[in-house]
Amino acid sequence: KLNEKVIISGENEISQLAKAYNFMNTKLSHIEEQRREFVGNVSHELKTPLSSMKLLSESLLIQPEVDVSIYKEFLKDIDSEINRLTKIIDSLLNLVDMDEEKLSIDYKLTYLNYLIEKVVNSIKPLAHEKNIEIIFGQWEKIQIYVDQDKIHQALTNIIYNAVKYTENNGKIEIGLFKKGNYAVIKISDTGIGIAEENIPHLFERFYRVDSARSRETGGTGLGLTISQQVISLHQGTIEVESVVNEGTTFYVKLPIEYMLGDKN
Ligand code: ADP
Repeated sequence: KLNEKVIISGENEISQLAKAYNFMNTKLSHIEEQRREFVGNVSHELKTPLSSMKLLSESLLIQPEVDVSIYKEFLKDIDSEINRLTKIIDSLLNLVDMDEEKLSIDYKLTYLNYLIEKVVNSIKPLAHEKNIEIIFGQWEKIQIYVDQDKIHQALTNIIYNAVKYTENNGKIEIGLFKKGNYAVIKISDTGIGIAEENIPHLFERFYRVDSARSRETGGTGLGLTISQQVISLHQGTIEVESVVNEGTTFYVKLPIEYMLGDKN
């Protein structure tokens, strides 16, 4: 039976076997626990937009006559809940693919500078709306092998967060430099910051410091989980430093072992 420990003391073969069995058993029940938690989380996340849609459609159906403008307004809300559901499901499929390492990574020799600039350009309109300035700090030319689409996505999540979690008129600074065998992408914001006790949980699925705020900005709580998976597929790491009400800095480190000559 799972979870049942076999107790055999001594150092003979049978007790070695018992030890191995107990070890496997603990591991299996841990995986089972994670699986159950994941299914629970997913169901909860999917149910939230569904409940909103149900509420919206019911309140329309219950009334004998509804003004067209009210219909339109409610449909708009239903539509944005559908977009939310789609976003969650897309992110989940993305994660499951990566979990199973089904993904074929398409490494291409890439100037990180170019890739980061592309991400920044796609986020600029949103930053502009909040009058947030995005500037480049230390900026070395670095060329490494990466899967461009995946790293684009990973960086988009982090830089988009920097905009989302920074008040109007704030500033975001992006740096790119070499440190040891790594290319470091540094993303600093002057945003709301993250309390120390929350930092270890940031990369967990569906984790948000403030669910209401995350939801308001269209967050799924999966962005950083995806970024971390992508970065670790590339043998890299993500580190976070933050001070509440002052700002947050993310460091994405990617190995440059494959870097070919610098063409500065
Ligand atoms: P979400 O979709 O909620 O943004 P993420 O996985 O991208 O989910 O981020 C998880 C949580 O980490 C966010 O809900 C937010 O609370 C916190 N967070 C991420 N980036 C920042 C940042 N730059 N400043 C402050 N908080 C952040």
